[in-house]
Amino acid sequence: MSDHEELESSVAAWVLGALDPKEAETVRSHVDACPTCRDTAERLRRVVGALPLVVEDSTPPPRLRERVLAAAAASRRPSGSPAIARIPRPSRHHPAAQPRVSVIRRLPAYAIAAVALLALLIGLVVGEVTHAPQPSTTNQVARFELSGHQGMSGAQASVIDLKSDGLALVDFRGLPQPGSGRVYEVWLIPGGGNPVPVAVFVPDSNGAKVVLVDRALAGYAVMAVTNEPGPDGSQAPTQQPQLFGSIA
Ligand SMILES: [Zn+2]
Repeated sequence: MSDHEELESSVAAWVLGALDPKEAETVRSHVDACPTCRDTAERLRRVVGALPLVVEDSTPPPRLRERVLAAAAASRRPSGSPAIARIPRPSRHHPAAQPRVSVIRRLPAYAIAAVALLALLIGLVVGEVTHAPQPSTTNQVARFELSGHQGMSGAQASVIDLKSDGLALVDFRGLPQPGSGRVYEVWLIPGGGNPVPVAVFVPDSNGAKVVLVDRALAGYAVMAVTNEPGPDGSQAPTQQPQLFGSIA
């Protein structure tokens, strides 16, 4: 994996100030050098900056609050989670790699906590929209549900589409473990075209994960998830999706 692939999912945590100083420095220096992550950070800052005005006096939905607290607690544990065990051990030929690897190993838990927090805040925004419709806000945030079938019949996901920012958050739960050397891959499927790969991930030990999709959903009809070879997934799905839903 490149630095970009390792660090992209931590940009949200960095924007939210959820990294310790050493980790924040690792992400900051990557963002400085990477136009893609800089753009993601700028869009997330706009979202985060707009939130406090909306979420004041709201009560978070209990399930999300529980999961944010659990993710925050997990992020304080010094050891890495099984979900990221595939990071290679540093080679003794590259002793300098040791500190960097140990920093990165601890990033995902922080990232999960921060992205879950972001999802919580966005959930509040969507909740506000539901109770007091405001056409301008409704046009900026949309929510869709994915549901599992067959072997993934217990799995679900909520998609939060931040239309004006070209970002989507997908809150997965109830996923079975993908298997040794396997990952889940997220696809966007247009009405009459080929699936586009947008993210690969491994759920935590509870089968949960919040995935940031750095792409506008406009123009796509369906979001689907398949089980693919790790660590990078496939260019086209190798199986019929068992977790999917309409996003149009
Ligand atoms: Zn990057």
